[in-house]
Amino acid sequence: MTRARLAKAVGLTRPAVSDLVDRLIAARLVVESAPESVDRAGRPGVPLLPAPGSFIGVGVEVAVDHIGVRALDMAGSLVTERIVEGDFRASEPIAILERVTSLADLVVAQLDSLNATVAGVCLSVPGLTDPNGGIVRYAPNLVWQDVDALAVLRRNPRLRELTLEVGNDANLAARAEARQRSRSTGGSRLDQNFLFVSGEVGIGGAIVLGGELAVGLHGWSGEIGHTVVDPGGPQCRCGATGCLEQYAGKDAILRRADLPANTSVSRLLARAQAGNHEATTALTEAAQALGFVAASCLNLLDLDAVVLGGFYAQVFDALGPMVRDIVTSRVLASRWVPVGVEAAVRGDFASLSGAALRVVDRVVAHPAPWLAAS
Ligand SMILES: [Zn+2]
Repeated sequence: MTRARLAKAVGLTRPAVSDLVDRLIAARLVVESAPESVDRAGRPGVPLLPAPGSFIGVGVEVAVDHIGVRALDMAGSLVTERIVEGDFRASEPIAILERVTSLADLVVAQLDSLNATVAGVCLSVPGLTDPNGGIVRYAPNLVWQDVDALAVLRRNPRLRELTLEVGNDANLAARAEARQRSRSTGGSRLDQNFLFVSGEVGIGGAIVLGGELAVGLHGWSGEIGHTVVDPGGPQCRCGATGCLEQYAGKDAILRRADLPANTSVSRLLARAQAGNHEATTALTEAAQALGFVAASCLNLLDLDAVVLGGFYAQVFDALGPMVRDIVTSRVLASRWVPVGVEAAVRGDFASLSGAALRVVDRVVAHPAPWLAAS
């Protein structure tokens, strides 16, 4: 975008747009790059870009198998990150939150030393969150209930000064995925309509409609992992029986494949490729359960595609075609408009990226406070 193209796009006069752009540049939110073209009046068009490295969104995550912090700038580029892998199932919430808080403290201190403005911190957790109070209502695989997560972050003097928020991991991962998909297709974010299903130990889901997350009345939509596959099935950590997680979650697949819970996904795949009966059966049953649930969701929601993220992206070649067959045969509308079943394009730790991007998106939506600050 140049000033002239922006003026045309938003329907304001060129001087009005120029004035706004100058303020964004002064606030270090936008930079000008080298002039690349000459317009009809003979003036060179100066492309405007999100400023690299000056305003930073910080994502913080507690997951079942890692904790981490990731800092992204206005362009969505990685500035710095710290990730610690481990087993945090049934973790003591305060201890883990203190650990991730000290990681975040190190990252924010580093950003301060780079003279970057930290625009806020968003904490990602695998569960139901209360976005206004910063409370994690329920995270079944961490075995957390009513944990005031942001209160722990606020005890840190450096973090206390920042805007802090909390979000659901699958919703945040879907935000990162929507952004990546619109970039890689060169299309608009408004064209993104998909059901995002992220496979980890738990299974998270998110609905992206017109590029926006459809989070439901309380922000709690997308709990696809606890939709029922068979009420007579195994006990789930949520207290119910036969949930999708008990067929297609990582622990459940490894258990059915007769492998220990810490087995890597690549080892599971290697076993299946070598024709191991337990491994192929575990993947087949997971794909079937996932396909049936995804088809039901699409019949209900009318979306373009199912996007499989988390470790599903790694095992997509083994799982995806089966899910696609089931979805194609069971979604009524697929006869007229085929429904895509695709692997996620955003890389590792997508929810961590999504958490950082939520902060960045907030600055983009409401830049005025940052203009005043400058
Ligand atoms: Zn459940």
